[in-house]
Amino acid sequence: MNYETKILTTKYQKPDAYGALSMPVYLTAAFEFPSAKAMSDAFCGRSMAPSYARIANPTTTYLEERVRQATEAVSVTALNTGMAAIATALTAVAAQGLNIVASKHLFGNSVSLIRDTLGTLGIESRFADFTDPGQVEQLIDGNTCALFFEIITNPQLLVADIRQLADIAHQHGVPLMADTTIVPFSAFHAREWGVDIELVSSTKYISGGGTGLGGLVIDYGQFDWSRSPNPLLAAKTKRVGKKMAFTARVKTELVTNLGALMTPQVAYMETLGLDTLDIRFRRQSESTLWLAQQCKEITDIKRVNYTGLDDNPFHELSLRQFGPLPGAVFTIDLASREQAFDFIDRLQVIRRATNLFDRKTLAIHPASTIFGLFTKEQLDDMGVHDTTVRISLGLENPEDILKDIRQALA
Ligand SMILES: *Cc1c(COP(=O)(O)O)cnc(C)c1O
Repeated sequence: MNYETKILTTKYQKPDAYGALSMPVYLTAAFEFPSAKAMSDAFCGRSMAPSYARIANPTTTYLEERVRQATEAVSVTALNTGMAAIATALTAVAAQGLNIVASKHLFGNSVSLIRDTLGTLGIESRFADFTDPGQVEQLIDGNTCALFFEIITNPQLLVADIRQLADIAHQHGVPLMADTTIVPFSAFHAREWGVDIELVSSTKYISGGGTGLGGLVIDYGQFDWSRSPNPLLAAKTKRVGKKMAFTARVKTELVTNLGALMTPQVAYMETLGLDTLDIRFRRQSESTLWLAQQCKEITDIKRVNYTGLDDNPFHELSLRQFGPLPGAVFTIDLASREQAFDFIDRLQVIRRATNLFDRKTLAIHPASTIFGLFTKEQLDDMGVHDTTVRISLGLENPEDILKDIRQALA
């Protein structure tokens, strides 16, 4: 089956009393059992029956199962936010004395998570430019527990050669972990490019409506965890097999202990988002390509950055990995920070908000907001410029968005 069909045909495991066609939202903390034996089986993992909603909820399990079937992964875990997904996955592979080799062009909270939060737990961070695989390889040693990067960085829109990174990672026995939020799994098949663990902020494309926060950890079951320098993971492979140690740790230890499983309300809304994900992604990306092309003709705009444009330095690599429509975010550079602020202040259709891939078009000045607490040197090092405005395209007619951009520049 094709992706669009698959995503709509996954049935939930147990029909409810009324045979509802949509997955019911199970708003309950606990689940009742017919016998002491059935209760014991559920608590000890001998049956799949849910016991307590911090550990599993049928609505959340249904979302996980739909994503798992669509991506052909071995397991999917839905968490409360994208950051919870990234934090859970990195906690699963890391341990005191080990290091994470990460891209220096990451979402701001991911930088802080790795450098500060995990740093204080004795996990070393090593940041590199992932568009330069040689630089990445030099930082790997016997204590490296993960390579972590974003497939297209935000807001710089840099593209790494994913196959090359996967080869380097696997030669050294290190899993490749990718944040793929910017191009969803309907369009980019991470497994085929050698990604071992895919992380998604489902707050963005999956939700689509910007109605709730969520995150996904997708395990493709391709990595041999007996090679991990993390003693806990390596030991787990003896019980669950070489390929399932990460999933076992996430599902039975971290979901339960960190308490960040996705709530059933959000899981329900995200299943609605999944139904239309592919069509929204295509339409929003087509609008973005058209608008980026139009913006190139406007003289007040000094630079238009979108990897779907022919003259973008990453165009060829982007085309190979993501196809002709690499997502619905692009940036423009104006002459100064003041002009960027004035432009944003004058927008009438485009909304002044963070978030990406909402159904509404959103604009933000990344340097003074998402990256507002970084120093000038850090911003320069990360390539976040004061003149840049980021635009995330929605489902409006792009001609109206172009008109808004023109009037805001006038
Ligand atoms: C938004 C975002 C996150 C964080 O997701 P939340 O759902 O806000 O926690 C992580 N990575 C990328 C690339 C993002 O865009």
